[in-house]
Amino acid sequence: MPANATAPRTSKGSKKKMPKRIPKMVYLFGPGKSEGKASMKQLLGGKGANLAEMTSIGLPVPPGFTITTETCEAYIKCGNRLPAGLMDQVDEGIRFVETVAGKRFGDRKNPLLVSVRSGAAISMPGMMDTILNLGLNDQAVVGLASATGNERFAYDAYRRLINMFGDVVMGVPHESFEKAFTKIKKKYKAKFDTDVPADGICELCEEYKKVYCKGTGHAFPQDPRKQLIAAVGAVFGSWNKHTAITYRKKEGITGLLGTAVNVQTMVFGNMGDDSGTGVAFTRNPSTGRNEFYGEFLVNAQGEDVVAGIRTPRPVSEMKKWSAPIHRQLLKVRSTLEKHYREMQDFEFTIERGSLYMLQTRNGKRTAISAAKIAVDMVKEKLIDQRAALLRFPAEDITQLLLPHFDAKAKRNTNALTTGLPASPGAAVGKLAFTAADAARRHEAGESVILVRRETSPEDVEGMHAAVGILTSTGGMTSHAAVVARGWGKCCVAGAGEVVIDAKAQKCSVNGRAFGPGDFLSIDGATGEVFAGRIDREDATITKDLKTVLGWADEFRRLGVRTNADTPEDAVRARAFGAEGIGLCRTEHMFFDPKRIEWMRRMILAETQNDRVKALKKLLPFQRDDFEGILTAMKGLPVTIRLLDPPLHEFLPQDRASQQSLATEMGVAAKQVAERVQTLHEANPMLGHRGCRLAVTYPEILEMQVRAITEASIRCKMRKVDARPEIMIPLVGTRKELALLRDLAIETIEQTCKDMDYRGKLDIPVGTMIEIPRAAITADEIADVADFFSFGTNDLTQLTFGYSRDDVNTFLPDYLESGILPCDPFQSIDTTGVGVLVEMACRKGRAVKPNLKLGICGEHGGDPASVVFCHGVGLDYVSCSPFRVPIARLAAAQAAAMETKAPKVKGKAKAEKNVRKKKRAKKTS
Ligand code: PEP
Ligand code: MG
Repeated sequence: MPANATAPRTSKGSKKKMPKRIPKMVYLFGPGKSEGKASMKQLLGGKGANLAEMTSIGLPVPPGFTITTETCEAYIKCGNRLPAGLMDQVDEGIRFVETVAGKRFGDRKNPLLVSVRSGAAISMPGMMDTILNLGLNDQAVVGLASATGNERFAYDAYRRLINMFGDVVMGVPHESFEKAFTKIKKKYKAKFDTDVPADGICELCEEYKKVYCKGTGHAFPQDPRKQLIAAVGAVFGSWNKHTAITYRKKEGITGLLGTAVNVQTMVFGNMGDDSGTGVAFTRNPSTGRNEFYGEFLVNAQGEDVVAGIRTPRPVSEMKKWSAPIHRQLLKVRSTLEKHYREMQDFEFTIERGSLYMLQTRNGKRTAISAAKIAVDMVKEKLIDQRAALLRFPAEDITQLLLPHFDAKAKRNTNALTTGLPASPGAAVGKLAFTAADAARRHEAGESVILVRRETSPEDVEGMHAAVGILTSTGGMTSHAAVVARGWGKCCVAGAGEVVIDAKAQKCSVNGRAFGPGDFLSIDGATGEVFAGRIDREDATITKDLKTVLGWADEFRRLGVRTNADTPEDAVRARAFGAEGIGLCRTEHMFFDPKRIEWMRRMILAETQNDRVKALKKLLPFQRDDFEGILTAMKGLPVTIRLLDPPLHEFLPQDRASQQSLATEMGVAAKQVAERVQTLHEANPMLGHRGCRLAVTYPEILEMQVRAITEASIRCKMRKVDARPEIMIPLVGTRKELALLRDLAIETIEQTCKDMDYRGKLDIPVGTMIEIPRAAITADEIADVADFFSFGTNDLTQLTFGYSRDDVNTFLPDYLESGILPCDPFQSIDTTGVGVLVEMACRKGRAVKPNLKLGICGEHGGDPASVVFCHGVGLDYVSCSPFRVPIARLAAAQAAAMETKAPKVKGKAKAEKNVRKKKRAKKTS
């Protein structure tokens, strides 16, 4: 017998300690009464809160009630038991619904049927349970048949209930019901479910009851109240289903109490050709165009659209089917947008010509569409710029910077087939036909495209692991489409010509067969599917995103720089809006084959003389690199960090490479091996690296500073406004920095003399704060620093004592068990590392009020960390080129969250100008 084969117990007799009694657990909605509202999402879940809101603004919502998320929390806390007093309030809710619907629960003539649906504060599409047609039993089904005059419909509703209740509430495998249906279809020679006549469906109900009884050990419950108790418990319980937990983890959803349960009068879209169901958006969620967008199915239940079982028709074709309903929906669309001032995604059902609203929520959208909608809604005066900025998830910008297929490469290749452009991006990968296979092969380092007829919540892990998703059925609102869009993952849905045999691990498209070893390329922006691999190229920023980012620039106080080591990266970052380089890691410049030899000679040199000789060879390379970067970033600051990694990283570690290096250098292999051995450190990250290298080998610093100075002078000669800054890494004491700063300044002066340069050359010398001691003694260090840049990668490593390179051996366990709320190398640990940052800012500025402060660790591109940086008063964040737009928006959001939009127009403009001027001053 399945584990959950018994209905949940009420709290009476429970040995577990009951949580505090909750006075109000049920909120009603229906004509003349709406106890909830949209702002009560935390308590009523998104669906419940909006059902109440839609009821109050006069939209046609079937009456019902919502059981709160607090009740779910209590249910779970007391060991899956319904809290005391809940069923009294539920009974009252049912009485209310019976009165307004004019039907009775379990009635033999005109029975009230309800749906029981989950609904958390944050949408988790398809992750939790739903039971439809609840309230039917052997007698009520006769009543439903006579009330509707449609026996087939009534029994079809009943068989769906037995199946759903059996599967979802009691854990009877869905396949057992499927088998019974297949038998009936055979008997009645029916090709599709819909071909089975009323008699067959009646027979099927009897068969389903047998399947149920076999699976659970008892008969299908005839008492609607008992059905309801069990269904409510099952929906609460589904909050902790594996798939729901995985989804929350992947989405980073935390801090919710549980799911609400919505019990609502059933309306039927499958009552004939004057009935139907659909999902629509108030604007196009892919492009953002201001047009009514969506899909509907005639004579179908809502689940058929979402599950992707039948491919729906676009709402633009609805006029042909029913002009009055189409008109009514257009009115609903306008009411919703005017009321919510946000793009809505809503579900509706038409029962015998009457329209009902079943759900509305803020529509998920691609970043392209988010930008367009934000810009259009500001133009339409629905919202102001501040609201537009705040509702654009900064991380979503990544989607706009996603690669797409090279246009020429695409022109030269014919698409195999075209499906729906469900989620943009361009993915290339080998085929995986199950989610488990996708997850396994992803772990092994393969890029795979998950190919499924349709996806379901069970596939979430594999969908996440895949580089792209391709389905053969289902529409733009199918599970695959919604989930992929939310993740910004490339997805082509409903490509009907792709015939999939998951068991045999193959698919065919128009006569061509593909297996797990074959590549496909899918274009989520057009829906095209190509055989083989197509070249991809980087994206560019759209006009709308430019507008949004322009507003962001007016709001933000933080400057945004980039981490870049090459002129190409610098140019790209500048195009993305970088206002300088916050970290140029010079070590990457030594790996070029022409340079590595001299770098190695420098490291292997036994005398200072030999070292200087090798460094002289490296100098022109460095100078040219710096000149290129300073030119690309002309007029903007470029922070160049002196050599940081331990020297052994530049040497070959295996014998064969050591031998060939020895041959190149004309020395014995033994000599190379010995030097490698000498440089070996037990803990290199805490060893001879950073500023410590320059203390031991000042000539390295001298070469780098000379190269920077020469490059700057060359730029000046060419009238290029070069603005270098020298950054000394891994400082832990004032004396280290004082010594190296003096050496750097002397070298700059000497180079000017050697080049006979008498012009102005202002090269600030600052340091990274990446050792806890540096943060603690920031006041002492500030005395000899022109700026601080927080190296939060090392600062996190050294504060936690977690090796950056090995943390993944235990981090997943720490996240799983909740010891850490998130990866501290991704998002700054505000209560530990953050406190050190805040302290260093305070102490540094106490000594030098104008000390420039920045961050160049990975956190500089993480939206939550950017908000933190804003809060502690940094001047700028620096991040990888692709994250620059994200940081610009996150910085604006941090500033916008602090202020209320000024009401006076002139004042708003004046304040913007002041902010702009302040930022320009701080960044440079
Ligand atoms: C840091 O430690 O945060 C940093 C930017 O330096 P790196 O990652 O190169 O050690
Ligand atoms: Mg570092």
